[in-house]
Order: sequence, then C-alpha cells, then structure tokens
Amino acid sequence: MNKDSIWMKGIQKEEKKISENLKDTDILIIGGGITGLTSAYFLSDCGRNITVVDKGQIGMGISSKTTAKINYLQGTIYQDLEKYYGVKKSKLYLDSQLEAIKIIGDIVKKLGIDCNLEKVDSFLYTNDSKNIEKIDKERDLLKGWDIKVREVDSLPIPEIPLVKGIVISNTYVFHPLKYLSSLRKYLEKKIIFKEDTLVQEITLEDSGKYRIDTNQGSFYSKVVVVACHYPFFIKPGFFPFFGHLKREYVQSAKVDYPSNFTAINIDSNLQSVRFYKNYLIYGSNEQKLAKKFNYEEGDKNSKNEFMKLFKTSPEYSWMNQDLVMNDQLPWIGKLDKKQPNLYIGTGYQAWGMTNGTIAGKIISDEILGNRSPYSSLFSPLRSMKPRFLPIISNGFEYLKAYGKTYLDKNPNFYKDNVMITKIDGIDCGVYIDSDQKKHIVKNLCPHLKCKLLFNSSEKTWDCPCHGSRFSIDGDVIEGPASFSICIKNNS
Ligand SMILES: Cc1cc2nc3c(=O)[nH]c(=O)nc-3n(C[C@H](O)[C@H](O)[C@H](O)COP(=O)(O)OP(=O)(O)OC[C@H]3O[C@@H](n4cnc5c(N)ncnc54)[C@H](O)[C@@H]3O)c2cc1C
Repeated sequence: MNKDSIWMKGIQKEEKKISENLKDTDILIIGGGITGLTSAYFLSDCGRNITVVDKGQIGMGISSKTTAKINYLQGTIYQDLEKYYGVKKSKLYLDSQLEAIKIIGDIVKKLGIDCNLEKVDSFLYTNDSKNIEKIDKERDLLKGWDIKVREVDSLPIPEIPLVKGIVISNTYVFHPLKYLSSLRKYLEKKIIFKEDTLVQEITLEDSGKYRIDTNQGSFYSKVVVVACHYPFFIKPGFFPFFGHLKREYVQSAKVDYPSNFTAINIDSNLQSVRFYKNYLIYGSNEQKLAKKFNYEEGDKNSKNEFMKLFKTSPEYSWMNQDLVMNDQLPWIGKLDKKQPNLYIGTGYQAWGMTNGTIAGKIISDEILGNRSPYSSLFSPLRSMKPRFLPIISNGFEYLKAYGKTYLDKNPNFYKDNVMITKIDGIDCGVYIDSDQKKHIVKNLCPHLKCKLLFNSSEKTWDCPCHGSRFSIDGDVIEGPASFSICIKNNS
C-alpha cells in the first residue's frame, strides 16, 4: 500500500539550486504551499526582490496531502459565522471563497496549467436527524444570497446513503501538486526559491528589518510572510491558544464507477468524497489531535470503513492535519500592530485551497498598499470575544495531552519495536526497524516541550499538542517545531 498521497505519484523532485546562497531580500515568504506560492504569484511583478524558502521541497507540506476540493459549501460555516459575527460577515466569507475560486480558474487559464481542473457539483448531507435543521439553515442562507441550491435525497453513488442533502454547482476539483509545480515553474523566472531551508527564528531589529535565522545561515528581509501552516514562534499572536489541530485519514482506490462530484457530511463521523480520474478519494475519522493518541488505530478504522463501504482495499492511504481557529475563520494579514511588516496566512480548517488562495491575494494587497475587502474579516487582530471559551478548553486539552504523555511513557499500543527510555539521562524514543537497526531520537518536542508519540502507521514521532512531526531519525517533517530531535550516532 502506498503511504504517499495520490498526488505525489510521478511528481519529480525539482533540481535544487544549492549553490545559491541566502541573500538579503525585500520580501521573504516562509513556506511554499498554496498560501506561499499564491502570495508570491501576486507579488511577483512588484519590482521588489522576493525569496521563498521551504524547509523541504516546495509544495510538499499539507498541500500535498489535501483532497483538493475547491468548494464554497463548507459544512455549516455560514450559519456558524452568522451566529458569531452576523449575516454580513458570513456573506463576506462566501464572497471571499467565490473570489478564490475565480482566482484559481484565472491563474490556470493565464498560465495554461494542466492540473485536471474540473467543474463539479458539490453535496452537503446528513444521516443524523438532529442535523437536518442545520442543512436547511445552510440552504436558506445560500438561497438568500442568490446561490442556486437544490435539495437531494441521494448521492450519485449508492454506497453512501443520506437522510437530507443539498447540492450546489460551480465548484471544482484539481490536482494540487500539478497546480503548485506549474506555479513554481512560472515564478522561478521572477523570484528566488530556496529549499531545505528551515527557518528557526525571526527577529525584528532596530533597523526595522527582520533577521532570519535558518539551518543554512542568517539573512535579512524588510517584509516577512509566514506561510508555513503552523508558525514556529509563539509570540506574537500566542497562536496555540486560538485554535486546534484536526487530523483526518484519507483512503483511495480505483473504482468501476468513476463519477465526478464532491460530497461531505456534517455528522460526528466525517465522510468526504471526491474522484480523481477513476480513483475515489475518501476522507474520514477526523479527530482533534490532542484527544486521540493511537494514530495506527485511526488509520485502521478509516481503512476498515473504506473497505466496508466500497468493497475494495485502498491503494493509497495517508493522514493529514489542518488548523481550526476557534471562530472558524482563518488568520490572514498582519499579526501584530507593533510589527507592520509581518504577515501570516493559516487556520483554514481543511478549506485551504480557497482560503490559501484568498490569503495570497489579501497579503499581497496589504503589502502593496491596496485595499482588500476581506482584510478586517480575516485579520488576526480581530476580537475573538464570540469564541473566548474554546481558548480555555484548548488550553485544558493541551495540558491533558502534555500530562498524559509524561505519565504514560510507553502506552500499550506501542509494540515491541518502540519504547521510551532514558539514555545518558535524556528521555529518548527508540524505534527498531525490520533490520533490527535502532533509530534513537530525543523524546521532547522543541516547540513547547511536549513529549512525543510514535505513529506506527507512518513511522514518525508526532507531537499530540501542536502537531509537529519528526522522522524516525529526528528531522522535522512538519512544524511548528523548527529544530530537529536528532541524536548523533544512531546505530
Ligand atoms: C485531510 C485533509 C483534507 C483536505 N482537503 C481539502 C480540500 O478538499 N479542499 C481544501 O480547500 N482544503 C483541504 N484541506 C486543507 C488544505 O490542504 C490546507 O489548508 C492547505 O494545504 C494549507 O496550505 P499552506 O500553504 O498553508 O500549508 P502547506 O501546504 O503545509 O505549506 C507550508 C510550507 O511551509 C513549509 N514550512 C513549515 N515550517 C517551515 C519552517 N520553519 N521553515 C521553512 N519552511 C517551513 C512546509 O515545508 C510547507 O511546504 C485539507 C486538509 C486535510 C488535513
């Protein structure tokens, strides 16, 4: 079974320009996912020097493991936003998503990108009688804004029944890595890309410039765009308090009935469906990261559910995580009043194809001094008053996860080939591979000092608090951690 996402198949690692030294720059974009590359696209003709750095390969972060639905029917978002912020802001969010869809279409057309962009119908449904009202509410809000919404009593495939559903059109699907690699190729003529460059710290100096410290050396930038999914710093923003991570498991296999639509439910057990050529892609078993520690079990449950529903085994199977802010609105824009040249785009609650795109537009507009109608809606400086309580509950959940990993160092789902033990007085995680080779790492997340858990499905060390992930030899796979947990001389 393939543990990479279906999108990674056949994507070549671009040749690296290792000889290129890190140079001072006007605008630094940290992260080459959809947020970073869209920001770079909109800034690329502004006449300033632009550098994009990524700790790994461009495009290979969360964006490489998405299901890539380009959709504005996003669960119960419109009624939720109406409740927190009123109907005007809820409608403004819809406008932002429609604009993002148009932007993707325009970029694909202008650059002639072949990324399997296809128009599809998108369904939203429930099988829980308690959620029928919510489907109705979402339908009514959208209809009130002149969106064509139809009620349905089934999906185009019989494998997934429904009690109540709605469908909209003018939504899309695409191949996210073909899109991002083409965008990168186009941008390479205009801006500098540096891969394998892990940003570890950014410091605002008296000169007004930022000093950027990386594992490849330091340099300066006048403007910084933090497009690295989960920021590696804690201040400014005090990010960990304002959201949580959710992890989802994705399975994919060839089916005899290739169809072309997308569907998601709003029930406690998430179901998410789309097609790519003759493959069905199914997401399920969504969980709050800090709440469930046995990732192998989540993966197994998701596979079993897939086999039961679609009577076939998955050919691709992967897991991915995204950030959900307490009020469900992304954080896009200036992060700190005292730092006018520091921008962020994140917190897309698994709708990053549209939100990462609109983030690129908003951030570039703000840098270039253009007014964006969406700035105040997404501003990280907005009042989070309507969703203050989750700050406390998130904090409590992190503390619980933190304590649990300290107390239960070797949970019973660790098999014989994994253990936490002290070596030379340091808490270490040990994984013994099939050749009996020991891979030893420090069992401490450099971000906020949580203990790590072994993820035996993907052979990684994962932080249950804020989502950092490390390879079996300790390299950072996913932030916010910006330092490795390597121990030299693994044997
Ligand atoms: C299971 C799942 C399914 C999803 N499906 C959909 C969907 O159908 N539709 C949709 O719209 N959205 C979906 N999403 C959400 C979407 O995939 C993400 O929101 C989006 O890809 C995030 O893009 P990004 O550019 O912010 O982050 P990334 O793609 O992760 O890019 C950030 C980059 O920053 C780099 N980086 C990180 N830290 C550092 C550092 N310290 N120094 C240098 N570089 C660094 C990383 O290597 C990475 O390449 C889904 C999410 C999940 C979890």
